[in-house]
Amino acid sequence: MRLLNTKNLIMLFHVVPSKVWFKKTLEVINRFYHFIPIQDIERYYFDNYKLTSCCHICFDDGDTTVYENALPVLRSMNLPATIFVSPKIVKEEVNYWFQEKSFYDDTDIKRIIAESHGVRYLDIARYSVGSIFKTMKLKDIQRIIIEMRPRGVHSFISRKNINLTQLYEMQKSNIISFGAHTMNHPILSNESDEDSRIEIETSINELSELINEEVRYFAYPDGTYNISFNEREVNILRENNIKLAFTTENRFIHPSDDPLLVPRNSLSYGNRPFVAMKVLTGSYWERLRSIILMHNTEREEIIKLKQIFRNSCVKD
Ligand SMILES: [Zn+2]
Repeated sequence: MRLLNTKNLIMLFHVVPSKVWFKKTLEVINRFYHFIPIQDIERYYFDNYKLTSCCHICFDDGDTTVYENALPVLRSMNLPATIFVSPKIVKEEVNYWFQEKSFYDDTDIKRIIAESHGVRYLDIARYSVGSIFKTMKLKDIQRIIIEMRPRGVHSFISRKNINLTQLYEMQKSNIISFGAHTMNHPILSNESDEDSRIEIETSINELSELINEEVRYFAYPDGTYNISFNEREVNILRENNIKLAFTTENRFIHPSDDPLLVPRNSLSYGNRPFVAMKVLTGSYWERLRSIILMHNTEREEIIKLKQIFRNSCVKD
C-alpha cells in the first residue's frame, strides 16, 4: 500500500474521542505511511534528509483526551508525537477561551457581543460564536467570557487540558516532543505588535523552563496564514530561534516549504474509509467538502464578520 503513496504529511489532532478510534485511525494511516519523530522533519527541511511515505503526529492545545486516549495508544505502539501547549494553561489548570465559550448559550454570547460592539444582533446571528471570537482581540474575548460566567449552565471550573503532572508523565515517556502554542491562544493577527510578541515569547520561555529543554517548535493558534497570523509572527519566531512552526494549511509537506510555515492535515473524527481518504487526498478533501456542503468556509465567515464590525458605528 505504501508504494501507492510517496508523499509525506503531518497529522494534527486536537481532541481524541477514544482509544479505540485513535488506534484504528493510526492503523489506517500506517497502511500508507511510516511514523517518524519531529527531529526527522527538522532534518528534512535543514539537512536535505529524504522522506518517503512518512507521517508525523501532532496534537495542539493539550486536551486531557490526548493524555487519556492518545498517550496509551502511542506508548503501546511505541510511536513518536509532538504536543503544542500553552505553559500558562497547563500550570494554572485553566481552560482556553474557545473551550470556556462552550459552557454558555450561543445566543446570549452573540447578544452581548452585539451590544458591546455596536452591531445589530441579527447581523451576526447566523455566524458561529467561534468565528465571531476569531475576529476579536483576546482582551475583548476575555471581557465577554467574564460577563457570561454568572449565566453559565455548567461549571466552567471543569479542567479540559492536561496539568503539570500529566505533562511530565508525557515527557518521561520519551516518545513525546513539546512545542509552544502561545499563552492564551489569541488570534495573533488581531493583536498589537507588543501583545503578539509577548504571547509568543513568554510561551516559548515558560515552556522551556517547565520542561527544562530548549523549545524548538511552535504551532500558530488557529493556524491560517494571513487570517490568524502573518509575516510579523513568522519573524518573531525566527528571532526566537524556533526551527519549525506549524500551520493548519491542509496539504502534504514539501522540501520547498518555509520551515516556519509547515502545513498539517487535521483529523478529529471519522471511520476507516474517511481517514484513508483524508490522508491520501491532502488538500483536495477540504475543497471538495466546501463545494458539497455549499456553505461558507470559516475563513470566508471571518472575512465577512470583520466587515460587519468595521462598519459598526461604535469603536473602542
Ligand atoms: Zn490551538
